[in-house]
Amino acid sequence: MATLEKAVVKGLAEDKGLYMPEQINKLPQSFFDNIEHLSFQEIAYNVAYAFFGDDVELDALKHIVYDTLAFDCPVVPVSDNIYTLELFHGPTLAFKDVGARFMARLLQYFLKKEGNGSEVNVLVATSGDTGSAVANGFLGVDGIKVYVLYPKGKVSPIQECQFTTLGKNITAIEVDGVFDDCQALVKSAFMDADLNAHMKLTSANSINVARFLPQAFYYFYAYAQMKKQGKADQMVMCVPSGNFGNICAALFGHAMGLPIKRFIAANNANDIFYNYLQTGEYRPQPSKATLANAMDVGDPSNFARIYDLYKGDHKAITSLISGATYSDDQIRQTMRQCYADTKYVLDPHGACGYQALKDLLQPGEAGVFCETAHPAKFKEKVDDILHTDIEIPQRLQEFMKGTKQSVSMSKDFADFKQYLLSK
Ligand SMILES: *Cc1c(COP(=O)(O)O)cnc(C)c1O
Repeated sequence: MATLEKAVVKGLAEDKGLYMPEQINKLPQSFFDNIEHLSFQEIAYNVAYAFFGDDVELDALKHIVYDTLAFDCPVVPVSDNIYTLELFHGPTLAFKDVGARFMARLLQYFLKKEGNGSEVNVLVATSGDTGSAVANGFLGVDGIKVYVLYPKGKVSPIQECQFTTLGKNITAIEVDGVFDDCQALVKSAFMDADLNAHMKLTSANSINVARFLPQAFYYFYAYAQMKKQGKADQMVMCVPSGNFGNICAALFGHAMGLPIKRFIAANNANDIFYNYLQTGEYRPQPSKATLANAMDVGDPSNFARIYDLYKGDHKAITSLISGATYSDDQIRQTMRQCYADTKYVLDPHGACGYQALKDLLQPGEAGVFCETAHPAKFKEKVDDILHTDIEIPQRLQEFMKGTKQSVSMSKDFADFKQYLLSK
């Protein structure tokens, strides 16, 4: 057992396992009865209180929540009985902004409370979206340094400028290798005794409880918005999934009493979870590169949390969660069809979610899928598939004006270790 503080500051447990909350507090029925009259921040504060209220002073918690959620996550109708929860209105236009910002603020709170002035170093490996959300969430936060490791030449120019142009406490490290090499460097660093003696290290990937749990907030808010429209009775939530942090947060919400009828995990060609649902056997695979690259995960870290939440009961899991898997061709086809039918521009990740609802929604149900990133983050692909020239939001354009700064690194751990020891 560990305190919340330890779980947040350390990220990973000593045995390299993931932290789980000891108990999951239910929210009172009165909260759900009244939820459609509350603002996003008010809803999130109630949920945050149930998760973190024993460990964080209430004024501070409220401040963290309100600071994190300074943007909206609207539910927008797309086609008959299919709605999208747009999670891309934050600073870097992807849903990871919520967890990254919340984690930065919570970590800052614990460091201040401790008051011993020791700095924490956040290491994060990214194929694009995680790095930009974490870098922007932690930008300018005292007492925390962030190192973003990314594969040279494998990240889109729009994504790259979101974490290489910031400066201050953010260092971008351009690794001469692929994403798996970046992740291996980070993992080796966490396990290295010399480095851990030299500096405090933590993770900002969704293995950290402070990054994945706040993602539950917007599922409650989505429910509230559907309830307002009288559509919440038979609500199905569909989450495009890679490392399964996002859907895991939704399932924690369900365990707290959120009355969502069932869930769908939509995958690209990386179909490990889908196969688990069909067979009861979990078989990690090397990841496959796809159009929806933020979901290219062959061994989803949060599978262990889902398994634990339902005590490994395959039947309990399959009665609540269904799966779907789509090839790149199907993703293209879905994006074109949806655009032709509705004029809604899906990004390749959201496309998996939309199609899964098309395929699996039952009569009488209302489906909501997460649009996990703004299509402009994948502008080259989206324009190529839809023959469009979609607009780049102002916020993204601002990043693109900055000067790129990064440290070049080989994929050899000895080099990375030497670099960190010099810090
Ligand atoms: C991270 C990400 C996902 C996958 O989320 P998980 O929590 O890893 O399952 C899906 N879409 C986009 C755009 C992402 O950045």
